[in-house]
Amino acid sequence: MSFNLAISLRESATATPDKPLVYVGSHALTYADIDAASGRVAATLGSLGLEAGDKVAVQLPNVPQFLIAYFGILKAGMTMVPLNPLLTSHEVAYHLSDSDARLLVTFEQFAAAAIGGAEAAGDVPVYVVGDTPVAGARPFDELLVEEDTGDIRATMADDTAVLLYTSGTTGRPKGAELTHFQLFMNCTVSGGLFHLEPDDIAVAVLPLFHVFGLSSVLNLVVRFGASMVLVPRFDPQVVLDVIERHRCTIFSGVPTMYVALLQADTAGRDLSCLRAAVSGGASIPGEVIKAFEEKYNGVVILEGYGLSETASTTTFNISATERKVLSIGKPIWGVEVKVVAEDGATLPPGSDNTGEIVIRGHNVMKGYYGRPEATAEVLRDGWFHTGDVGYRDEEGYFFIVDRLKDLVIRGGYNVYPREVEEVLYGHVAVAEAAVIGRPDDRLGEEVVAYVTLKPGASAEPEELKAFAKERLAAYKYPRTIVVLAEMPKGPTGKILKRELRTSQSSDAS
Ligand code: AMP
Repeated sequence: MSFNLAISLRESATATPDKPLVYVGSHALTYADIDAASGRVAATLGSLGLEAGDKVAVQLPNVPQFLIAYFGILKAGMTMVPLNPLLTSHEVAYHLSDSDARLLVTFEQFAAAAIGGAEAAGDVPVYVVGDTPVAGARPFDELLVEEDTGDIRATMADDTAVLLYTSGTTGRPKGAELTHFQLFMNCTVSGGLFHLEPDDIAVAVLPLFHVFGLSSVLNLVVRFGASMVLVPRFDPQVVLDVIERHRCTIFSGVPTMYVALLQADTAGRDLSCLRAAVSGGASIPGEVIKAFEEKYNGVVILEGYGLSETASTTTFNISATERKVLSIGKPIWGVEVKVVAEDGATLPPGSDNTGEIVIRGHNVMKGYYGRPEATAEVLRDGWFHTGDVGYRDEEGYFFIVDRLKDLVIRGGYNVYPREVEEVLYGHVAVAEAAVIGRPDDRLGEEVVAYVTLKPGASAEPEELKAFAKERLAAYKYPRTIVVLAEMPKGPTGKILKRELRTSQSSDAS
């Protein structure tokens, strides 16, 4: 079946050409603008000798050129490789070589690392978005020189549209191959779940180079002919300004963003326009959901779950009446989810029956680009093995207990960090909590918690420890609690436990 994801842009641009697709500050670009500019990119890439199936890397923050490059690449039948702008030149070189990228689009602020990486990867040509010329690269405008022919290449539905880099459960970053059909289905199904309408305006603060921003914000908005406001960097006051000024209706974020919005001063603001808040990427503590909904006029947080390998959404809590707090919801249409034991046997419902979450359906990637072995490790008998531990209840709601690799085994007992974190979030002074295991000669591992405190709050580690001890079994409560000024976070804002582990081992040495 021939199908190209860029058709969803063309359809919306035909229906409402003059409607703003993106707002950047007070400036707007319409559907017709993005459709025409991306058509120029498609034609120019062709004139540069690139062909259908070639990979083009895009290393941009949330700026309109992201959309122009993305849809241009898709229209030309090429594959987009989104990269984090903060990569070092070494990392850029790795990603470009691993993906066989033939061209790189980057941002002036990050150009030095990008150009260094592109040279090391075999002189991959670099195009830079920005105001000033950069030595060793061409301006992005040179990708807009050919006329828009209006053509959209008839790719096959299972051709790879995007190579999305992720470390997966283990190892170096690998490119998850997501097809035109998978990406189209995922935004179509998830947008339908919360009745996305053309009148909706989404806050696009999740990075568009990550699956959550790309699939569940950008593709979704375009598919339903809605609008979005681009916010290049998360700052709670900036997000609140944007919501108020543009009358945004949808906010999608990771839990640490909700924690920050919870602490933000909202006095005097009219945020009544917000109708839905979507959380994903990590588990959101029940205390945060409760407090956020109280503070933000009852806006309901709908939690979903997904991975880079599943084109984003896999399960979702649909509405205020069809959700369970602490649950990741139920599988979306066309996707099957089950819990399996170590021997692969399917486990029955019940919180005692925890096992690995496995997924089958239209959203599961084709595989990791150029890595048959890594692919075979996670795609077994048609099921994608997530590395997440969870269970299903009698009503079909799924719950994530933790990541397999985050599990702490203390003296032979399994401690799920998430359970300990939930308790710490219940303390009035705690803003964020992350629990990890520390190697221990006697017990194998010891439970260690890192916390940040709410502005103006104070709490001694001993007091927090006593609080946790009162509420958790003796083998679970953290023996060490470290109060940090700031949590290490990844590009989406997820807490980076691996950095806590590394800093812990260097502290010890
Ligand atoms: P990524 O590929 O970067 O999107 O990361 C995927 C991982 O994020 C999953 O394997 C989960 O460990 C985690 N994750 C995503 N959504 C949730 C959620 N709602 N609750 C708990 N963990 C989540």
